[in-house]
Amino acid sequence: MQNPKWNFDNSYAKLPNIFFTEQNPIPISAPKLIIFNHPLAESLNVPYELQTLAGNATPPNAQPIAQAYAGHQFGHFTKLGDGRAILIGEHITPTGKRVDIQLKGSGKTPYSRGGDGRAALGPMLREYIMSEAMYALGIPTTRSLAVVATGEIVQRERKLQGAILTRVANSHIRVGTFEYAANYGTANDVRTLANYTMARHFPKAETYVEFLREVIKRQASLIAKWQLIGFIHGVMNTDNMAVSGETIDYGPCAFMDTYNPDTVFSSIDEYGRYAYKNQPQMAAWNLARFAETLLPLLHDNKNKAIELAQTEVANFTNLYKNNWLAGMRAKLGLTQEAHDDERLITDLLQIMQRTNADYTNTFRNLTLGRTDTNLHQWNERLQAKHPTRRPHNPAIIPRNHQIEKALSAAEQGDLTVAENLLHVLKKPYAYTPEQEEYSTPPINSCAYKTFCGT
Ligand code: AMP
Ligand code: MG
Repeated sequence: MQNPKWNFDNSYAKLPNIFFTEQNPIPISAPKLIIFNHPLAESLNVPYELQTLAGNATPPNAQPIAQAYAGHQFGHFTKLGDGRAILIGEHITPTGKRVDIQLKGSGKTPYSRGGDGRAALGPMLREYIMSEAMYALGIPTTRSLAVVATGEIVQRERKLQGAILTRVANSHIRVGTFEYAANYGTANDVRTLANYTMARHFPKAETYVEFLREVIKRQASLIAKWQLIGFIHGVMNTDNMAVSGETIDYGPCAFMDTYNPDTVFSSIDEYGRYAYKNQPQMAAWNLARFAETLLPLLHDNKNKAIELAQTEVANFTNLYKNNWLAGMRAKLGLTQEAHDDERLITDLLQIMQRTNADYTNTFRNLTLGRTDTNLHQWNERLQAKHPTRRPHNPAIIPRNHQIEKALSAAEQGDLTVAENLLHVLKKPYAYTPEQEEYSTPPINSCAYKTFCGT
């Protein structure tokens, strides 16, 4: 292991200045470490420095900025930007990987609008647990390096302890970043952003059409993974969709317990726009907004450009479907493809819905060869126990009631509940005896509500 040190090389800050504002984190009075991700720090080769994680110190070669972006929020276009986050720089790992190091909850920026720029301990620890669980489940995601309590109070519906999350991402380029360039910048700004993003995330794409195609492919793969695992993002606004294809912005997200395609947890999602069953459709909608920003780059002839964009966006549905079907086959242990696979899967899901089955545990039980009586007649193609199922069906997910327990304890100063939860979530496919007690679903999961992490 090399001596851990920051190794900043800031490329985003070289973009035209409409894309960001130089802004230091606002110092805090009494930083206290809540949790630090040692394995992640080791793999990135970054040091533990409380004052940096608190936003009180700027390491050499860091170049703190707030990023500008826009976004469609529940369908409505708005100018946004990092209102409570600062990108302190891009760190290059020993293997040459470039990652954004971002402090979330680090004080006001020019994009804060009416907000205080701060975040509360509960939501930041929640993002830490969720993102690390997603990573362990094998789903592309931003990571969490640390949570630091600020020692300051943030006023929400009640007074809460303030905290800062250090987020590590392949980048924070969002669909909303492109919308920002297309709406508030010049044609050249869009081109510059596209070239930058292609070089950073899609080096193999040779044309803008290929770039669009690859972005769509990654989203189709990502959203299929969410559906297969029962993850509900909760606020799939275009500003919360990363062009790199990582899950980003863990606000009101939650895992579904009882299988019901209509499940919505977010208290602000009144009409169920981002319900479980709508996620693929909403992703396609976001990708159409993304494609619109690229129109001038796709072809000089506007109609031709629209046609190209439409063809690519229309592919999403099939790409998604193929990913999802392949994933479902793997979950069921169907190693041979058959023409009635989809029917078999739909039948299963219908039985699950009718019987209020727990989504994760149904597949977990299949993996363990514990056949549910409801599923007895369902199909003889499924051998009782199939060894290939295990890597596709987690024994454990971060269940809402367990996260809540961990967060309440943490707010009282007891981190052990969160640490134990994080420990069992590290190897979700291990099927260890200690994971057993965490697999019990809550008594009434449908009543669970999540709130935006503001
Ligand atoms: P989110 O719903 O977390 O994706 O945030 C939507 C927008 O609101 C982003 O531009 C955030 O930076 C901004 N925002 C959220 N919370 C705050 C806050 N407490 N202070 C300032 N801006 C915020
Ligand atoms: Mg956001």
